[in-house]
Amino acid sequence: MIKNSPQSPWRARILTLFPEIFPGVLGHSICGRARDSGLWDLETIQIRDFATDKHRTVDDSPSGGGTGMVMTAVVVGAALDSVPRDSPLIYLSPRGAPLRQSRLAELAAGGGVTLLCGRFEGIDQRVIDEFALEEISLGDFVLSGGEIAAMALIDGCVRLLPGVLDKPSATSEESFAGGDWGGLLEYPHYTRPTEWRGRTIPPVLLSGNHAEIAKWRRDQSLELTRQRRPDLLMGKPKN
Ligand code: SAH
Repeated sequence: MIKNSPQSPWRARILTLFPEIFPGVLGHSICGRARDSGLWDLETIQIRDFATDKHRTVDDSPSGGGTGMVMTAVVVGAALDSVPRDSPLIYLSPRGAPLRQSRLAELAAGGGVTLLCGRFEGIDQRVIDEFALEEISLGDFVLSGGEIAAMALIDGCVRLLPGVLDKPSATSEESFAGGDWGGLLEYPHYTRPTEWRGRTIPPVLLSGNHAEIAKWRRDQSLELTRQRRPDLLMGKPKN
């Protein structure tokens, strides 16, 4: 089968002090194959290339004192000046809005993203203000750099791009997706053998009754979400 490549691939542009980390996990499996077939593309920019002193310094001690180092506005600003303003400009940061499936879907629907990865204590606040950076967090924990968060964001977007997964329903039914499941956690999965270490598969899944199976899955989704993430049910009908 001849695959039609879209005219311009979805583009992930990453500003980082460690471009050699990429593509990393993004070069494998679903994301790797999608990149090989031209559905998305990756560009890394070495922030250090924008340092002008002999030692190519990118950081300095925090104004007001304290531990650690801060990436300077001069260097990070110059790196950001060098990229076209053609996609949402995002700074991966623990202070940002928690990354959600709905934001991934919006980003995947656009032409791409430009991601700034911090290191050390982070970047000078004036860069965030000057470029009106959107801050996105991977969760309520602190990583040592933005690269893992950038990879997570890109992976989450790429699998939503048209043509990446065989069955689009695979993304509309899974956890947090909108669609029929309305942002619930996913139901449990099983596969052969029908008995393993004395544990069986719920009989309804072997019944061949598709309506019953759909109902069971929806009930399981609701129950799991009630137990584990009641916050996801706020404002939703209870069944
Ligand atoms: N001093 C900062 C943490 C800096 S961690 C604070 O307390 O908020 C260094 C870099 O790692 C950050 O600039 C950011 O780019 C990245 N990072 C750390 N935790 C992250 C998270 N939860 N989500 C996204 N990026 C994160």
